[in-house]
Amino acid sequence: MASEQETFETQTAEEILKWTIATYGPRAGLASSFGMEDMVLIDMLAKQGGGLTLFTLDTGRLHEETYQTMERVRTKYGLEIVAYFPDRQAVETLLRQKGLYSFRESIDNRKECCRIRKVEPLNRALAPLDAWVTGLRREQSVTRTDVPKVAEDADHPPMVKINPIADWSEQQVKDYIEDHKVPVNPLHAKNYPSIGCAPCTRPVEPGEDIRAGRWWWENPEHKECGLHRRG
Ligand code: SF4
Repeated sequence: MASEQETFETQTAEEILKWTIATYGPRAGLASSFGMEDMVLIDMLAKQGGGLTLFTLDTGRLHEETYQTMERVRTKYGLEIVAYFPDRQAVETLLRQKGLYSFRESIDNRKECCRIRKVEPLNRALAPLDAWVTGLRREQSVTRTDVPKVAEDADHPPMVKINPIADWSEQQVKDYIEDHKVPVNPLHAKNYPSIGCAPCTRPVEPGEDIRAGRWWWENPEHKECGLHRRG
């Protein structure tokens, strides 16, 4: 896929999305947590007439504003959203044994919660698919600087992982949203550039890294939930 990768690198996000729809159709899933980047991709997808599986992971700990944004996507674009929930028994056991805020106690506990509420549901979501599309950008964090636009997903081989806006800046995302009147999560206007689960996300201060508000009690190199371990 090396020479193909070079070709993808010069293609626009719309071209890559179009290729994804033509190549995989509903066997490709657009993974969305309804943040700014995902909303750009959803808008592009809707403008191309849909054709991919739009899915989300409902961890059970999301902000109310995220559910409102999800509902706006459903009504504005008419796209079906496939929601994956955590395994009920795993969540019940976690809460019984460790309580509601175990993720604050250690990195292991935080990863355990992310594994139950995000990683296992993601694996279920990916099982029927051959490719998945994400809104990852290289600029977002130290863990994402090498993200390719299209490559085999090392965590889920032989699945292909497609990141159409990998090379976009935050300003490009904002410009697209403004130009195309894309609805966004109201939390972005309250200084939440990156939005995850409610208890693990806070607003950032001016000049802070855009993912500084995620698991802010941890070091930057640990700040992945297991969904995008290798970009
Ligand atoms: S982000 Fe926080 S609440 Fe959400 S799954 Fe991870 S540790 Fe649990």
